[in-house]
Amino acid sequence: MNLLLEGRTVVVTGGTSGIGLQTAQLLLSEGANVVICGRDESRLARAAEQLGKAERLLALRSDVLKEDEVAAPRDAAIKRFGDITSLICNAGQAREGNFFTNTEQDWREELDLKFFSYIHPIRAFIDTLRASRAGSIVCINSTVSTQPEPHLMTSSAARGGVLNLAKSLASALAPDIRVNSVTLGPIASGQWERRYEARRVSGEKYEDWLKSEAAKRRIPLGRFGKPEEAAAAIVFLSSPRASFITGARLEVSGGTTRHV
Ligand code: NDP
Repeated sequence: MNLLLEGRTVVVTGGTSGIGLQTAQLLLSEGANVVICGRDESRLARAAEQLGKAERLLALRSDVLKEDEVAAPRDAAIKRFGDITSLICNAGQAREGNFFTNTEQDWREELDLKFFSYIHPIRAFIDTLRASRAGSIVCINSTVSTQPEPHLMTSSAARGGVLNLAKSLASALAPDIRVNSVTLGPIASGQWERRYEARRVSGEKYEDWLKSEAAKRRIPLGRFGKPEEAAAAIVFLSSPRASFITGARLEVSGGTTRHV
């Protein structure tokens, strides 16, 4: 299926690693112009080198938690490519801990990250997405937004809130901009590599550790997802092929959740 993305411009926050990087790769292979953002200059340079296609790619430093930094990628994208048709709010990470172990500061930081990683970019991009008359926003979320995990209580509560926010925005921004959420189960990305490094038992390979974590979680498909599998769903929802889909939640989890 041709996703009709050729010549369209898509901004991916947190596009230097894992799911965001694979999303950028797939968008480029579909002919889109792509802007990736992140906080770390060296990771941005590495990602740009890996992605290639320099004539259709911008890799720009921007921390989504700093309101004054989110306009720069928007302005650079418009200057280079003319307009922006999609925003993918992907930047972020999970915070482990529960109601009893997380401090007030932990709560504030987690709520800040989960809410403002959507709010700042969406506010900055609304006018240009609206002007494209076929705008779309994809909000990357997690299965814990609807099925809270005891070891991720803080994250789960915040994720539930932003799932609700995305639904409100789908109504508020229709018919000019579609807003959808992708709720991810365990996807083997940068953050899982960091968790493996932190807990590494001597001699255990990353792949073996992932297998044992998948077994512990009883994932029906029996394994972690790959970043490119998450990217496929994200790119579809951002594309004109999803033109009648807004306010939806697409789960990419190997069947992890138990609710209907
Ligand atoms: P990675 O750690 O591999 O990538 C995270 C990306 O976000 C990096 O590019 C990072 O770059 C960027 N980033 C983090 N904070 C900021 C910030 N404040 N401003 C701009 N960029 C930022 O993680 P994943 O690919 O796994 O995660 C992608 C999204 O998917 C995240 O929101 C995550 O919470 C979500 N998710 C992932 C799941 C999984 O199992 N992998 C499950 C459920 C949800 P830099 O650090 O240089 O800024």
